[in-house]
Amino acid sequence: MRFSGPNKLRSLLKKARSAAASFNSSSSSSSSKSFATAPKVASAMDELQALKTKVCIIGSGPAAHTAAIYAARAELKPILFEGWMANDIAPGGQLTTTSDVENFPGFPEGILGMELMDRCRSQSVRFGTQIFTETVSKVDFSTTPFKVYTDAKTVQADTVIVATGAVAKRLVFPGSGEGKGGFWNRGISACAVCDGAAPIFRNKPLAVIGGGDSAMEEATFLTKYGSEVNIIHRRDTFRASKIMQNRALSNPKIKVLWNSEVVEAYGEGEKGPLAGLKVKNVVTGEVSDLKVSGLFFAIGHEPATKFLDGQLELHPDGYVKTKPGTTETSVRGVFAAGDVQDKKYRQAVTAAGTGCMAALEAEHYLQEIGSQEGKTD
Ligand code: FAD
Ligand code: NDP
Repeated sequence: MRFSGPNKLRSLLKKARSAAASFNSSSSSSSSKSFATAPKVASAMDELQALKTKVCIIGSGPAAHTAAIYAARAELKPILFEGWMANDIAPGGQLTTTSDVENFPGFPEGILGMELMDRCRSQSVRFGTQIFTETVSKVDFSTTPFKVYTDAKTVQADTVIVATGAVAKRLVFPGSGEGKGGFWNRGISACAVCDGAAPIFRNKPLAVIGGGDSAMEEATFLTKYGSEVNIIHRRDTFRASKIMQNRALSNPKIKVLWNSEVVEAYGEGEKGPLAGLKVKNVVTGEVSDLKVSGLFFAIGHEPATKFLDGQLELHPDGYVKTKPGTTETSVRGVFAAGDVQDKKYRQAVTAAGTGCMAALEAEHYLQEIGSQEGKTD
């Protein structure tokens, strides 16, 4: 993401939210409209409908839509639940919360996150994906066909692709938010790989909060752009692996503020960009000033897996376990793609890649159980 003016960002976010809000909250079905245009309002009959499908896709980011494009082109007539502000994110997923995406292949000038996801959605619809703007609240994977529930529908599905993504955890302190007085997206970010190359960070002092592998990786990555990188960590030891710690600690551009937490972010004048942080030493209570132009949260992500209610095996941190090199989960016929099963790369293109894998694996599974009509080319 390139950091643009706050007004542009605010209007993008507003657009994302109002696009989502314009849908009927419980059961807008929209098989032919993009989410940036007016939705079709479902009838009361539609709300009561029990549906059947070969492939049910849950999610709305690059993983879900890539899976939908492949499954739809294989004539599997997928149903996709894109969520209704699920995890407080508009249909389209995490990219609807950013401006320019500059590292997705095929867009040499970059593309707005909203527009990219709008295009993905149109492509899903073009090949026959049926999309419902509803959040999946419950699933039953104990018997086949699997069952997927929203507040308004029950779907029986031969295969399910879980692509519900993850949300980067954020800290709340004065100046950390969006809008007036906040520097979120105006110097504060939760994705160094996405945002670190932005011009406002070039040759400027930066900071990263966290003590895990992500913090080490992001701090090391940011040394390519910033003049120095301060890792701010709340304890006196890192939980990151030794190799990642050593790599960060041996980098001359990286400094560590141990036992420290950020208590405030402030800017240059009324409307200026981020200029610095007030950092409190949690042992001594002393508050000091740290001049930085960028702050990156690297305090972990939360995968959207609560609705699974323990029916798929998860890693201790909540990510869906998949068989290495595949999207197969602990339940045969249920696949997981994108950030919901990926704690390492968490990029749009990797999410799309695993979405493709999930659709192809679902198609092979359907062939095995004798339920497949079409075929992918
Ligand atoms: P997500 O994008 O996480 O979308 C999943 C969506 O599914 C949710 O948001 C929600 O709408 C829906 N959903 C969730 N639960 C349910 C449910 N129960 N029922 C129905 N629907 C549900 N990556 C890049 O490659 N380049 C970038 O420049 C870039 N910039 C980023 C900037 C920001 C601010 C952020 C936060 C991330 C950025 N990323 C970037 C990372 C990228 O957005 C993610 O890796 C990618 O979106 C993950 O895709 P996904 O398909 O796994 O799901
Ligand atoms: P982790 O949960 O491992 O680390 C989160 C860090 O953020 C911890 O140091 C934690 O502090 C800190 N933190 C959490 N909440 C707060 C808070 N409220 N205030 C201040 N600090 C906070 O998350 P990661 O994203 O770093 O890693 C997730 C997983 O992904 C790990 O398994 C990791 O190994 C893996 N990973 C691997 C990589 C690689 O191998 N290249 C790269 C990135 C991730 P504390 O330590 O005090 O709890």
